[in-house]
Amino acid sequence: MTPTEADAYSRSAAAYVHIPFCSSVCPYCDFAVVAGRDDLVGRYIDAVCTEITTSEPWRPLEAIYFGGGTPSHVDPSVLGGVLDALSLKHGFSADAEVSLEANPEDFDVARATTLRSLGFNRVSFGAQSFDSSVLVALGRRHQSGQIESSVRAARRAGFENVSLDLIYGTPGETANSWRDTLRRAIDLAPDHISCYALTVESGTPLGRAVRDGAEAPDPDTQADRYENANMVLSAAGYTRYEVSNWSYPQHECRYNLTVWAQGQYEAYGNGSHGYRDGIRFRNIRRIDAYVSAVESDKTPRSGNDVIEGWDAEIDRLFVGLRRVVGVAPGPGVTTFLQSDSGRRLVDADVVNLVAGRLTINRPLLTDEVHRCVLDLEAPQCFPT
Ligand code: SF4
Repeated sequence: MTPTEADAYSRSAAAYVHIPFCSSVCPYCDFAVVAGRDDLVGRYIDAVCTEITTSEPWRPLEAIYFGGGTPSHVDPSVLGGVLDALSLKHGFSADAEVSLEANPEDFDVARATTLRSLGFNRVSFGAQSFDSSVLVALGRRHQSGQIESSVRAARRAGFENVSLDLIYGTPGETANSWRDTLRRAIDLAPDHISCYALTVESGTPLGRAVRDGAEAPDPDTQADRYENANMVLSAAGYTRYEVSNWSYPQHECRYNLTVWAQGQYEAYGNGSHGYRDGIRFRNIRRIDAYVSAVESDKTPRSGNDVIEGWDAEIDRLFVGLRRVVGVAPGPGVTTFLQSDSGRRLVDADVVNLVAGRLTINRPLLTDEVHRCVLDLEAPQCFPT
């Protein structure tokens, strides 16, 4: 993907739909999810459709992403109802990417065929690992064989764009286990693979267990796993295009590319975040409060941040530096390079200038670069 192609996503129109329902809550999960609340599915989907139909009309959407939670946990027909509402409100471009997240234990040929016929054309499986002991440690309900059968079901149903999410660095995972997970993932020839380090979030069961003395993921081990993933995936023909994402050519996730290019995206559902007309907004996180707000004709928004002037330039660097292509020259890049922390990161070869674009050489240090970006102050000459 060239920088020009990546930057073009700043003009895309996208939408995110949050489906918060899960069979059970995994101990490491910090998302806005619920388990055992399937009684709420009907009211929740009605609320999401109401939120869509009462939102400002827009231009045809080029990327739609159903995340969660577990979109595949609910009946496909209700997801089709949401797609219909989106299509009626905004329209879809002729080649729109329509993604959903799915868990392997929910997926078979019948469900895949229905989802494909409703208009979904990309599926991203929460595979996480092919090692059964790691899956148990992560609290996942599927077995490795279900990942393989799910991918086959998706292909048989006509999904030409299949992605796998993997998690590395779970305590108890060995180097061999991780290598085997990568090999079995590659054997399935998904078009896209995401690899995330297991992170410990306070407030989750894992966070409490670690606080009480359970083994925490080891950062050095996770760094080794990441380097190994990059080497193995590159050798298998995948190209890394973002910190944690690799794909075959032309199979990058267009919804995420829009987010990282500072493009605009609507967001619907509890706990969702969007960016439109220079405003970053977020919805009420708790599902009951979200549904009640929409049912009583109140806004489901819980916050709006106007992103303009210098804040918009910092925002451009913050989201764009996740991409391998980095960010185009601009006042933020110039200020970064003139700052003490920026010079230190250049000297340490953590960041680099490639044809005038600021890029990160060492993706594992992205958080450190982000902290420096957030500390940058507007130059005096910057218009306010
Ligand atoms: S299935 Fe995914 S969204 Fe649901 S609890 Fe587990 S990690 Fe969270």
